[in-house]
Amino acid sequence: MNNPHARPYSFPTNKHPELAAYLSDRSKYDPDTGCLEWQLAMADGRTPTTSANISKKYRTKQVVRLAWIAHTGKQPSKDKQLRRSCGNPRCINPEHIVAASPSDAWVYPDSPFPAITSVGHFKVGKHLVPAKVVHSRQTWPPPIDPAKGISDQHKHDLLPLWVVTAIRRAKVRAVETKLACGTLRYDLPPCVTEIEHTEPPAPEWKPTGWSDDDWAEAVENAALPIAA
Ligand SMILES: [Zn+2]
Repeated sequence: MNNPHARPYSFPTNKHPELAAYLSDRSKYDPDTGCLEWQLAMADGRTPTTSANISKKYRTKQVVRLAWIAHTGKQPSKDKQLRRSCGNPRCINPEHIVAASPSDAWVYPDSPFPAITSVGHFKVGKHLVPAKVVHSRQTWPPPIDPAKGISDQHKHDLLPLWVVTAIRRAKVRAVETKLACGTLRYDLPPCVTEIEHTEPPAPEWKPTGWSDDDWAEAVENAALPIAA
């Protein structure tokens, strides 16, 4: 996977010196791919995020957005998504980042990594949510106990709870397809689909009377291998 176009990148120090230093100290250049790889753990395993103080100053936890700010000196436009042209989830090299509208499809046949493409999006209030994100939220497992809401996953989500709720209850479902080339593709109808964001009544349920320990035990038993 040698990339002949790879060239080292360093963040400009004249725009946001503190941010440039923060990003440089935590990323490493890979000469094979040209990627600048984030060295810290990735919160959800898919994209670098940070909750360091610097994320509050620039009002985003997404390291790719921070890298964009350090590179351009400006906040990325709200209606654009930042996508990696290299397909490497750890990469924060601004030269591998493209600003795209949520409806754009992206295919990079020369990328050494399996690409992800996303076509179409939901509009929920002021939020434009691309098909890939819609699919992820729609496939979260249901909460063990509906009284507890949408489950722990939401605690780390960048989307407000009411947006996630609307997405999960929407009749239109995002579809995931694995193409022959290895690309993962996410689709919604190719037009802006504005979905309801008023809260419908919660689904009916009866309290089980189970404690947290009861649930933990049930989950553990369900995971035990079947005896031969
Ligand atoms: Zn890259």
